[in-house]
Amino acid sequence: MELFYDEQAQSFRAFQPVTVGDSRLAQPLASEEAALDIGANNLVACTTTTGQQYLYEGRDLFDRFRETTREIARLQSLLEDGRYSSHRIRRLYDRRTKRRDHAQDALARNLIERLYDEGVSTVYAGALTDVLDTHWSVETNAKTHNFWAFRAFVNRLACTAEEYGMSVEVRSEAWTSQECPNCGSTAETTRHRDTLTCPCGFEGHADLVASETFLRRQTTVTRPMARPVCLKWDDHNWSGSPRSVPNEEHTNPQVASVGR
Ligand SMILES: [Zn+2]
Repeated sequence: MELFYDEQAQSFRAFQPVTVGDSRLAQPLASEEAALDIGANNLVACTTTTGQQYLYEGRDLFDRFRETTREIARLQSLLEDGRYSSHRIRRLYDRRTKRRDHAQDALARNLIERLYDEGVSTVYAGALTDVLDTHWSVETNAKTHNFWAFRAFVNRLACTAEEYGMSVEVRSEAWTSQECPNCGSTAETTRHRDTLTCPCGFEGHADLVASETFLRRQTTVTRPMARPVCLKWDDHNWSGSPRSVPNEEHTNPQVASVGR
């Protein structure tokens, strides 16, 4: 606390120095928008109104999460009667959670920084709860709830977004994951692994298509989609470069949209 004499007011004023980080002063440079499809195999598929698409791979992370879960179950089966945990089990739980949280934090920051650079001011995150019980498989359901911790992730995302002056809005994205972007059908489409196919001839990356459909429901997208950026986690960073995602063939990145 410092005191200054204000000559005009003829009085002393107290002055409390406050350090404000650069990021807290950040404001989006434009009012672009982005929509996220949050899932289990692909943690986040994102489409922006600037025509960018990002895909954050989750399979390796989930496989390790499942391995640790199996090891915990194995150790639990070896416990003596009357014991429910052990130092080793608690340490495995702890490590499993930390690894997940670390990847989540890093993902939120990597994504928000990319979106900030694109001039995004609003991010739509799909509320998964209304679709979980209906057409998600039990395994996928368990994957998303236990591993991904959807609500915790949305909170992290919102906190990181706030630093950059961006807002996160949770909206229902029911059925977007099954809607054909070509003909609008939801009943006729089939999803096999990462590929969404429709009798009308459409074929594309299911999660990227879902995020694009979700975005189109919130806003008007007029720009063509660039080649998606695929990001992988190496225990420290999410890194990726523009390239085609599995099941995709893009011949011209300037005009290629998802699957077409
Ligand atoms: Zn179709």
